Amino acid sequence: DSLFASVELAPRDPILGLNEQYGADKRGNKVNLGVGVYYDDQGRIPLLEAVRRAEIKRVEAAAARGYLPIDGIAGYNKGAQTLLLGQDSPLVAEGRVLTAQALGGTGALKIGADFLKQLLPDSKVAISDPSWENHRALFERAGFEVVAYPYYDAATHGVNIEGMLAFLRQLPARTIVVLHACCHNPTGVDPSFEQWKQIAQVFQEKQLVPFMDIAYQGFGAGLEEDAAVVRLFAGLGLDMLISSSFSKSFSLYGERVGALTMISGDRDESTRVLSQLKRVIRTNYSNPPTHGGTVVSMVLNTPELYQLWTQELATMRDRIRAMRDQLVDKLKAHGVKQDFEFVRKQRGMFSYSGLSAAQVDRLREEHGVYAIASGRICVAALNSGNIDYVAEAIAKVL
Ligand code: PLP
Repeated sequence: DSLFASVELAPRDPILGLNEQYGADKRGNKVNLGVGVYYDDQGRIPLLEAVRRAEIKRVEAAAARGYLPIDGIAGYNKGAQTLLLGQDSPLVAEGRVLTAQALGGTGALKIGADFLKQLLPDSKVAISDPSWENHRALFERAGFEVVAYPYYDAATHGVNIEGMLAFLRQLPARTIVVLHACCHNPTGVDPSFEQWKQIAQVFQEKQLVPFMDIAYQGFGAGLEEDAAVVRLFAGLGLDMLISSSFSKSFSLYGERVGALTMISGDRDESTRVLSQLKRVIRTNYSNPPTHGGTVVSMVLNTPELYQLWTQELATMRDRIRAMRDQLVDKLKAHGVKQDFEFVRKQRGMFSYSGLSAAQVDRLREEHGVYAIASGRICVAALNSGNIDYVAEAIAKVL
């Protein structure tokens, strides 16, 4: 027998599978709302001007490409901390915050998971129901048993806060709980700040371990606003892990730009934690790549570029908001009686549209409009050229 004879074919990634099907679709008016990517009004993935300028500077500097430190570029890590905790964070001043550049948000989650498996080998990981489709597999692959806490309430298009709090309250101390700090993927539904305070209180009382995932900072209410939940938990003195992704906010998906930040009890703890985290990184991929990290670091640490970037981020955020509004208005204009007002309130790139799997099938088969079976649509893939068609198609399948 050959060495690999017993290897079974893994199931196809459902979203990538949908993309392939979309690619093969010959219809000229097809629309892909299944993706998790921001497109501009021309339907292109933007190259941000702040990024372009930083890249030009970098190329002109013709810098050598030696190995980076295991934990990456210092200015990048500092920039990531500032985005999370603000300019003058006392936690940073006290040396309680440590950050390592990571291979996107996914890489940050993975090195965090590997680190936690060593620290808390018997803990379970709780993720939201539903959650980003990679959360469960990633933590299981790191050796954890993964459970799901109640989160989305389809009836109200809101958060099932009572169910969530009750579930969290019965978890053993030191259970790791993954939270979407803003712009929940896939639902677009976030707890209110008052609800977050209730959630944080349970973390304190029950000694749960927050692992915040922030992949859409700047896409909700704004850069500062979207970090409010991180700052709330940090302000209460909770030790925590935070995975940041800059894939969307810098439109640098392929550069794998992310960071893992941990907040510990004191400077000495941070030093020890970082030393262990570096071992995790060293044995996985040694050190992160240079290009994306350098570009992000330049943008975060150059006032003019930072200013430009925040404007470009605001443009992306506002465009998504406008698409939400237009979708709701156009559905009404097409005579849809069902209430879609909830779509305006959702945050970030996604919307749990409330469409059933059967309706999603009809959208795809009859109209060439691709969405996820759960009814998740990427609002950031709508544009002035396709939104009329999409609204009409949805109206027809309802
Ligand atoms: N976490 C969430 C909630 C996400 O939606 C995503 C990307 O879709 C990630 C993490 C991964 O981000 P990255 O592409 O930077 O690895």
